Amino acid sequence: MATQIYLVFTDDWELRGDGSGDPTQIQFRPLQELARIFAERSIRGSFNAEVMQQLTFRSFQDRYPHLKDWADEWERVVTEAFRQGHDFQLHIHPQWKGAVYDGKRWILPAPWSILEHPRVDAARMITEGIKLLQVLLQPIRSGYRCVSFRAGAWCIAPSGFMLDLLASQDIRFDMSIVRGISYNFPVQLDYRHAEEGFFPFYPDMCDARRIAAGKKPIVCIPTACFPEGPLVLLRRDAAKRADPRGNKQSECKRSASCPPLFSGRHTCQDRRGRSLPRHGGSQVEQESCRKSRAQYSCQIECPATLAGPA
Ligand SMILES: [Zn+2]
Repeated sequence: MATQIYLVFTDDWELRGDGSGDPTQIQFRPLQELARIFAERSIRGSFNAEVMQQLTFRSFQDRYPHLKDWADEWERVVTEAFRQGHDFQLHIHPQWKGAVYDGKRWILPAPWSILEHPRVDAARMITEGIKLLQVLLQPIRSGYRCVSFRAGAWCIAPSGFMLDLLASQDIRFDMSIVRGISYNFPVQLDYRHAEEGFFPFYPDMCDARRIAAGKKPIVCIPTACFPEGPLVLLRRDAAKRADPRGNKQSECKRSASCPPLFSGRHTCQDRRGRSLPRHGGSQVEQESCRKSRAQYSCQIECPATLAGPA
């Protein structure tokens, strides 16, 4: 009998980790484009909507009307895609807690890892995030439930409280384990020896890197990770699409030791030498960086690791 494999296409839908970026460019248009691509292939995606950004925009919208416009558009784009059959689940970047805004730039002072926040704060963020999604989507489909979670920057383990907290709020799946990755900044994380990297499993409730001996109230669904790193694949894809004249790559001030396009982290500067926010690991950000090369000088740091925190 043929083996059937169920794949879930997920996307962490969010601004950059420091709060920078234009939601229209980074979120709204890419989501609509992904929905179009999915529709062509009869695929339904599951988007991990970062809720702290939206909650923060709402809390500042009376002082800054453009944030209300973005927050309204966030809801419009989400509900539009939801009506098309796509799913939205919970994603939390806790660094938005206590955010400061001057009308142009965000300062996000809180830790990136939800595990570094007090349990009560983590509980409040989860509750508010679930409420945001369910209040928005249940009027469209009454059976909608927020049942899945992905931690910002993948930070789920080890923790003495996080999985219990999620289960207590009826979250049934966690998708934060990525076997093989490790970071020291901006979060401390080490999943190099996670026991499962592909199949769903019941986790040790205090350390989701380990498989539990028996049934647990939550299931971990690992996020697939390519041994070579996703940016290697992006580089191959980019090479296929490269300008035959090679002009685009010649604009980039790469060091000679750096492999070709998309192989490292990007730091962009405008024509006056002002640094733009660091580009992270998502494909959308990398695409954005590639498209901005006509306007910006793009420098690539040779990577110690190929994937950045999500
Ligand atoms: Zn994220």
